[in-house]
Amino acid sequence: MATRKKSKTTAKKAKAKKQKTPKYIFIVGGVMSGVGKGVASSSIATCLQARGLKVTAMKIDPYINVDAGTMNPTEHGECFVLKDGLETDQDMGNYERFLNTDLPSINYMTTGSVYQSVIEKERNLEYGGKCVEVVPDIPLEVIRRIKTAGQQAGADVVQVEVGGTVGEYQGVLFLEAIRMMKTETPDDVAVVMVSYLPVPGSIGEMKTKPTQTAVRALNSAGVFADMIICRSPMGVDDRRKAKIARFCNVQVENVISAPDLDSVYDVPLNFEKDGLSIVLCKQLGLPCKKKSDLKAWQRFVRRSNNVTDTVKIAVVGKYFNSGDFVLSDVYLSVLEAIKYSSYDLNLKPEISYLSAQDFEDKKNLKQLKKFDGVLVPGGFGKTGIAGKLNVIEYVRKQGIPYFGICYGMQLMVLEYAQNVLKLKNASTEEINSKAEHLVIAVQESQKNLIKENKMGGTMRLGEYEAKLKKGSVAQKAYKSDKINERHRHRYEVNLDYAGAIEDAGLMFSGVSPDGELMEIAELPASDHPFFLGVQFHPELQARPLDPHPLFTAFVKAAYETHS
Ligand code: GLN
Repeated sequence: MATRKKSKTTAKKAKAKKQKTPKYIFIVGGVMSGVGKGVASSSIATCLQARGLKVTAMKIDPYINVDAGTMNPTEHGECFVLKDGLETDQDMGNYERFLNTDLPSINYMTTGSVYQSVIEKERNLEYGGKCVEVVPDIPLEVIRRIKTAGQQAGADVVQVEVGGTVGEYQGVLFLEAIRMMKTETPDDVAVVMVSYLPVPGSIGEMKTKPTQTAVRALNSAGVFADMIICRSPMGVDDRRKAKIARFCNVQVENVISAPDLDSVYDVPLNFEKDGLSIVLCKQLGLPCKKKSDLKAWQRFVRRSNNVTDTVKIAVVGKYFNSGDFVLSDVYLSVLEAIKYSSYDLNLKPEISYLSAQDFEDKKNLKQLKKFDGVLVPGGFGKTGIAGKLNVIEYVRKQGIPYFGICYGMQLMVLEYAQNVLKLKNASTEEINSKAEHLVIAVQESQKNLIKENKMGGTMRLGEYEAKLKKGSVAQKAYKSDKINERHRHRYEVNLDYAGAIEDAGLMFSGVSPDGELMEIAELPASDHPFFLGVQFHPELQARPLDPHPLFTAFVKAAYETHS
């Protein structure tokens, strides 16, 4: 009996210990968008993690879209898929990379997803007959999710980034959620505003007024900033720090200088120069380690700054052009993954963004000769397909290392079927469902969804297992026979053609455990320095402190082939 009692008490104690109440840090944007609020949030999380705290990071996007999967990437940047399959904003990728952890879908919400849950609950009579209202029921649902995320993670700190800029109508309900939480437990909530201090060329002086105005806009929503992170082309001097402190109701040490830096990975180290994590821990009464442990991070940054030799990689995509600008954000995780593997190999990556459409004219293919490796990332639809197929044929024949991701793998298989198997009328069902040889076909489970136009959140999404063939390029890179990778696709290699393709020399070295889905295609190392495509998105699991083995194998092959 006694023993039983004791173990019950221990269990209770353990439970109490587990269910600690986390502290909450909200990050809002002032003045304008595009100043690196996501990187600032990720860096705050890194700084707190380095103080020995368990941190989880969340993102709120103020769109009606239920998730980020239905948005055009040229509008909203890359769609980042979480391990459990939710299609989210690229900031979630930044958090995962900076914290070196997987995050669950409770950590991401949009206005649309919050309204959807509230309406569903109302339909299920979960509000017990009361009138459900925008205020307080929408902010209450936001708060419920934030608290659940904290509990699920067993976090000391839940960090929540609110998308958009203070003063926008669509962010009001999220500010209301912050106000409600801070009113209820003022000691558990801190608000950080990431602001921008311009240095207009005509004046040559850093101006604080826009920040003061943004703080007032925040105050008018009943929310007060505890810390102001000052993004600017240069560091903020003491004089301006004092001015911001005085006019924005914060202590001088709560004004953090955040100048433009060469690399986003320098940001946590820069924040710590101004003692950011100490200030936040003090503010929230968080027990933190006296000495911040950013050693591994520092090593990574040092390494990336000291790389010597160069490796030239071309990324051939279709979403790069937006008016007069090039949008590399669309393939953010791919670019970061190339960087991590390059640094790991002591190489400086020189990444060029090439538009697939330019290669519809075969004369332009010669340009590819100057690159050490070519990568075709994921994509959808017709645009740029002909150019990508030409590129793949060229690099296959020229022995230029090639890495195809998702669509990049499907097109690699299609190119092989067209040019090696000589299946002239071969296509992917995605662009020509009437083609004689549908080498890439729609997944069985997708057929009805497409017919009924149920396109949101219905692709094959998230992590799935695959088995690797012994001795293959993939298996040697992973140093494992079994992998788990994240997916986002509706089409797949048509099994009816898999045998013929393999007989012609392109091996499927990774397959789903039931053998139904071709996950990796490759040419043997004896035939090509590196010609490999994956149905999944390895870039989503590449981390600064843990580079992805396939990217490393690709970059290594690229460097060795061309140098
Ligand atoms: N469009 C292809 C499919 O849906 C590839 C998707 C992707 O590249 N993410 O299967």
